Amino acid sequence: MQNNLILYNNLSKKKESFEPLHSPFVGMYVCGPTVYSDAHLGHARPAITFDLLFRYLTHLGYKVRYVRNITDVGHLENDADEGDDKIEKKARLEHLEPMEVVQKYMNTFYRNMDQLNTLHPSIEPRASGHIIEQIELIKLLIDKGYGYVVNGSVYFDVDTYSMKYEYGILSGRVLEELQSNTRVLDGQEEKKNPFDFALWKRASAEHIMRWPSPWSDGFPGWHLECSAMSCKYLGNEFDIHGGGMDLQFPHHECEIAQSTAANGKAPVKYWLHNNMITINGQKMARSLGNFITLDQLFSGNHPVLTQQYSPMTIRFFVLQAHYRSTVDFSNEALLASDKGLQKLMKAIETLSRLKPSSECNFDFEQFNQKCYEALDDDLNSPILISYLFEAVKFINSVADGTSTISEQVLESLKQLFKTFVTDILGLKEEASVRGGEALTGSLMNIIIDLRKSARESKDWPTSDKIRNYLKEAGIVLKDTKEGVEWERIE
Ligand code: ZN
Repeated sequence: MQNNLILYNNLSKKKESFEPLHSPFVGMYVCGPTVYSDAHLGHARPAITFDLLFRYLTHLGYKVRYVRNITDVGHLENDADEGDDKIEKKARLEHLEPMEVVQKYMNTFYRNMDQLNTLHPSIEPRASGHIIEQIELIKLLIDKGYGYVVNGSVYFDVDTYSMKYEYGILSGRVLEELQSNTRVLDGQEEKKNPFDFALWKRASAEHIMRWPSPWSDGFPGWHLECSAMSCKYLGNEFDIHGGGMDLQFPHHECEIAQSTAANGKAPVKYWLHNNMITINGQKMARSLGNFITLDQLFSGNHPVLTQQYSPMTIRFFVLQAHYRSTVDFSNEALLASDKGLQKLMKAIETLSRLKPSSECNFDFEQFNQKCYEALDDDLNSPILISYLFEAVKFINSVADGTSTISEQVLESLKQLFKTFVTDILGLKEEASVRGGEALTGSLMNIIIDLRKSARESKDWPTSDKIRNYLKEAGIVLKDTKEGVEWERIE
């Protein structure tokens, strides 16, 4: 397989030519969501980034096995192995079985991913479905001297590992620094060193999610699932591992240590990380009141949003930044993206009805090559999009009669737009979203605003009337600390 693709490998910290271990087969593993709340903006970026890579590799002719896990057990609130399991905590709050929580939020995640037009991975394994594989891996690590048992829990021995291998190879963390910077939390006295991490945790009496093991009734550590499942489906060595930059440490560093210790070799050839997102310049956090779920974004139902944004606008917006740059979400930036996307989609429609002539002022070959060069350069989607807009300009000039296009170039350009816009960038028309749902979102914002004015001028009858009419129409308003939200009564 010939290609000119160059990817930034976070392991070597430089751009490298992409040469798969077993061309034309490519193994790609991406850390998926921990499913304990609605999918949010933070989920959209890795999903779209690695969807772009999946689509492009497939377009180049590779046979990609894309594995994305679902974390449904073992991810504790604190990455240092302490606190409640995130899913179990939510289950108590919502009075649900932990697996009902998992199912509920997995359904939302899949629906949102479909809305964003991300292709389904080849395999989506769940951590709770691979307890046996994880127990086997722990046994292997103990046998090789890299795991130790304390009170029914098993920890990874980072000191022993670092005598033979380099811990911190991905994140650049140095053990001595980690040692002095790591706070000793309650319950961590079991560990020989504070930077050791859990492979298996003994479950306390009230812990619901538990499995029998040679060491105790308990549950696997968070990092372990990715080593166990990537190895099961992609082998001990595979091509690409992806995820958000925040997963580099400790999650991916620990994954490398586990897999290397177990198999005697580094598991991954290329490590790719997407950068993070901010909202109006701030980190997204529940405590800052700017935490936006994808459903809220698609409906406009959140106080920081001035309107709804369609899934394709979000997708286009994410692709307008290089995956290793930060992206700041603001209403202004999203509106600009929405406009840009409409212009691009309109050009495709214009292209379909252009009349060719014998003259042509467009160098198609050069243009085609530029588009590939952009993606080959570490998936530079913003540059590709800027080139597409050059073509849009030309298409519009043909439409208004100031340029001409030959029949052959016209056909080639149509094919190029299909390849890059539809197949690789994964953008599509969304008439239905722009219709009903979006209109409801806009109207609700107006109504909420009118009610707010009424309340401010202490016009309680009008305010009550609005609330009652909405209730009759099947909509309830909720006053939250971030502002007013609405929802449909089931
Ligand atoms: Zn992972």
